[in-house]
Amino acid sequence: MASAYVITAPEIPTLPVEGTDARFPVHRIYCVGRNFADHAIEMGHDPSREPPFFFQKNPDNLVLASGAGATIPYPARSSDVHYEIEMVVALKAGGENIPLDQALDCVYGYGVGIDLTRRDLQGEAKKLGRPWEVGKAFEQSAPASALVPAETIGHPAQGRVWLSVNGAVKQDGDLNQMIWKVPEMISELSTLFRLQPGDLIFAGTPAGVGPLKSGDVLEGGVDGVATLKVTIG
Ligand code: MN
Repeated sequence: MASAYVITAPEIPTLPVEGTDARFPVHRIYCVGRNFADHAIEMGHDPSREPPFFFQKNPDNLVLASGAGATIPYPARSSDVHYEIEMVVALKAGGENIPLDQALDCVYGYGVGIDLTRRDLQGEAKKLGRPWEVGKAFEQSAPASALVPAETIGHPAQGRVWLSVNGAVKQDGDLNQMIWKVPEMISELSTLFRLQPGDLIFAGTPAGVGPLKSGDVLEGGVDGVATLKVTIG
């Protein structure tokens, strides 16, 4: 007989699977930093000298933003919250030291998400050599679409990655511009962490990130994968 928990804990976060009643349980959220050269350059870095890298958000930072979309409040303690549109990779299997040629076998499917960033708090952390959680891993910082199985769409290696604010396109890149392709990010990540079924990877954002204000309507997507919509309350 299972032991009882001593407190009532929140349920584990999940994302829906497009076109079904099934849900994908989320274990961890990894994010790739500076995976598009033009975004690295706009942030003041030289992508030829510094490879991409990883940080994490919390699974319960997810907000479902498919279909009619989600409305979220302007994030606390910041006056410079930025959008970053990204493809989301969902894993059905994991492990450590996964070879490049086996990495795509770990992928359940794909979606799209926004890596919301409190840029002012992140900038302060960078300057002081502090961790990034306050800039990246805050409440509702990870709006995301439903997931689409790779069985349905395959493994997209190209396709427009775009985001508009109030109808004006701000980010307009392509998956084929990613410095680390999906197999490389999985293989590399698996040398640092034991990947598990249920892990998500936010794959990095193209150039054009910028600030939000209350009332803004964000729409974005990855062509051939999914779209999402977020209104800032
Ligand atoms: Mn990002």
